[in-house]
Amino acid sequence: MDRYAVIGNPVEHSKSPVIHGEFARQTGQGIEYGRILSPLDAFRETVLRFRDEGGKGLNVTVPFKLEAFQLTTTLTSRARYAEAVNTLKFEQDRIIGDNTDGAGLVRDIQNNLGIAIERKRILLLGAGGAAQGVLYPLLDQDPALLVIANRTVDRALEMQRKVEQRDVLSRTVSAQTYESLAGLSFDIIINATSAGLTDSALPIPPGIFAADALAYDMMYGRETPFMQFARREGAQVADGLGMLVEQAAESFYLWRDVRPDTRPVIEKLRQ
Ligand code: NDP
Repeated sequence: MDRYAVIGNPVEHSKSPVIHGEFARQTGQGIEYGRILSPLDAFRETVLRFRDEGGKGLNVTVPFKLEAFQLTTTLTSRARYAEAVNTLKFEQDRIIGDNTDGAGLVRDIQNNLGIAIERKRILLLGAGGAAQGVLYPLLDQDPALLVIANRTVDRALEMQRKVEQRDVLSRTVSAQTYESLAGLSFDIIINATSAGLTDSALPIPPGIFAADALAYDMMYGRETPFMQFARREGAQVADGLGMLVEQAAESFYLWRDVRPDTRPVIEKLRQ
């Protein structure tokens, strides 16, 4: 059986083994999928040992997505733009790096929630690895504008600068502080911060959700202060479980060339 795993620290909470187990059963692929707890200072060694023992691929989670990016010999264009890798594929001497987070988010919003991104006003909260991973896939959908707001505004400005350097529909992207969002309104607001992990509220001004707006929190498994705020403001609220399953499906497709059906897996996890 071909071997795969999710690697991270911590990693015991990861739902990836369950998700990939469901995909394998559904598509009849004979794979084995485990969890690898990597020491914080030995990511590279841990990955190479897994590969040398015959491992075929890895999902990479916190805090190693940037190190995984450094470790690759070949990058997909979306991983190069994200400057972070969440999927590794071992092929002969090559270590191929991909980033499926953005595709997962876009699929969840468009296919599962049935909401188009094209011509919408998007607010992306956060400028860490997750925000960087989804920025270009969101821009590919041709939104009317995309504003990035971050507590440390310099990080958001850096993301804006890179978009401008790359000349990717740069007119649609701007970086802002939370305070300067007052008076603006958006159709889709995506929380890509980790503030929910500590139950911290984000300083988002009221009135920021347009009519029928979507509030999307990449976190799953808990009702974050962002989600509570969005409900009070009358927005439609979604958590990141669908994105989690969709990004896993993209990884599975990269490894096995088979696209699993994500809906029954999302439903099963929700139960
Ligand atoms: P990073 O550590 O790289 O970035 C964290 C971001 O959150 C930064 O922008 C940081 O701002 C901001 N932040 C943290 N705490 C606060 C706070 N109290 N107030 C305001 N801003 C805050 O994390 P990631 O980008 O890797 O992950 C972010 C979240 O996305 C995580 O919760 C993760 O679980 C989730 N995620 C979900 C996925 C899914 O499939 N559903 C996939 C990937 C990620 P600053 O720069 O100022 O520090």
